[in-house]
Amino acid sequence: MNKHIGVILVNFSDSVVNFSVQKIDEMMFSGHNNVADYFESMGITLTGDVIGPITIPLSSQGHDYGSWSNKVDELVDIRQYDHRIYVFPDGTAPGIGIGQAEVGGERIWMFRHDLPDGYAHELGHNFGLFHADTDRDLGDTSCMMGSSGPGFRHFNAPHKEKLGLMHINHASNRIYTLATDNLRYSEALKIGYYYLSFRKKGRYNEGLNKKYTVGLNIHYFDGIGPTKLIKILKDGERFEKDRVIITQLSHSDGYVQIQVGEKKVKIKWWSRIFRKFWKQKNGKNRKHNGRGKI
Ligand SMILES: [Zn+2]
Repeated sequence: MNKHIGVILVNFSDSVVNFSVQKIDEMMFSGHNNVADYFESMGITLTGDVIGPITIPLSSQGHDYGSWSNKVDELVDIRQYDHRIYVFPDGTAPGIGIGQAEVGGERIWMFRHDLPDGYAHELGHNFGLFHADTDRDLGDTSCMMGSSGPGFRHFNAPHKEKLGLMHINHASNRIYTLATDNLRYSEALKIGYYYLSFRKKGRYNEGLNKKYTVGLNIHYFDGIGPTKLIKILKDGERFEKDRVIITQLSHSDGYVQIQVGEKKVKIKWWSRIFRKFWKQKNGKNRKHNGRGKI
């Protein structure tokens, strides 16, 4: 995947940025530990420019960032860019957070300029990802789509699969040894909507909290909306849900050994036909337009 990014610094009539094009360029494309190198480590090539500051004849008051970026688009040749990141003076649009992005879209609005993983998170939204949750929104900080702040972390296994960065095989009833999933060609498994992976700190994965590295990470993801981190297994511990049984047998620094099983349930022939019919009928309505600011 190759993406060309336009990063545009924006001044208002009553407020201006207090950081330079060079500083943002170093963070995004040219400096040590930049955002493009982070994405490259997962197989996504980012190129782009940092331009501005562009001054728009509008006040910085309020939260109408859609209109602010529309005004910028009138002043800049945006056609060459797949995605545009508007960087406003820090603290603009108070209460909104670090940034906002279109999911599956092309625009990102940043209200804090100095967090590389904030930019990476919002780009993840543009690429079509929703959040990495636990029971809490953004709670799965093993993934860049969880809360920003800890630094660079690779996307979790279901997000990597969604972006086509990783092929994940279906598990069957047997014992598996899974290596750490930090490398580009990494290992993970899925069974039903459950994704099984093992994580390790590494280059561009420095922000990964140690708690994610001690056992098998089990995520739930049905392909729509956020991923959900369900559990991190310990040695000898068993996870059982929706007829899926996973037991962690052992782990070391580089791998985890697990037993995967699926309970067979006898379903009467008329129940099978009913389910198939129900799925066909209701499946059609289950579309998501993939848009919206988040
Ligand atoms: Zn977000």
